[in-house]
Amino acid sequence: MICAYIGLGANLNAPLQQLAAAVAALAEIPNTTVHRVSGFYGSKPMGPQDQPDYVNAVAALHTKLSAEQLLDQLQQIELSHGRVRKAERWGPRTLDLDILLFGDMLIETPRLTVPHYGMAVREFVLYPLAEIAPDLQIPKLGSLAALLAQVPINGLSLLQSP
Ligand code: ATP
Ligand code: MG
Ligand code: MG
Repeated sequence: MICAYIGLGANLNAPLQQLAAAVAALAEIPNTTVHRVSGFYGSKPMGPQDQPDYVNAVAALHTKLSAEQLLDQLQQIELSHGRVRKAERWGPRTLDLDILLFGDMLIETPRLTVPHYGMAVREFVLYPLAEIAPDLQIPKLGSLAALLAQVPINGLSLLQSP
């Protein structure tokens, strides 16, 4: 059994409800249970600014799946929740599910980079993660507490408590 941390994000079609529906879908993944879920946070978009604010959260899963199997499941959930892949990077989306951490594994394949390459600098990942795993040590990146001390909160706000 591995503990995997998933970053959730949405900024279209009632994003709070998208995230709640996504958590319910995570609970349906085979051989996997939802261990903890952070509150839902409002955040500013990365990249293109002409799009709505985001809602973000982090969930801890316990899973017997491999990382690639888990990614398959997450991508299926993204699609079934109406995500349309567009050419523009970081453009608006109904749902984004990223694998932030997969136990203490380092993964570097064409489909997967774990720990997620952006997590060290994204306030909308670090703060929700700290809520559910404050003492986390992250492979290659060190303690979550040390990362948090370097990343300003950038307007992140708690919209809905867990
Ligand atoms: P970002 O990766 O900067 O958060 P994004 O989440 O919008 O941007 P996506 O379009 O969701 O990017 O994913 C692009 C590709 O990233 C996917 O096809 C997937 O194979 C790859 N990928 C690499 N590492 C990961 C990871 N840790 N979690 C999810 N997808 C990953
Ligand atoms: Mg992402
Ligand atoms: Mg993604």
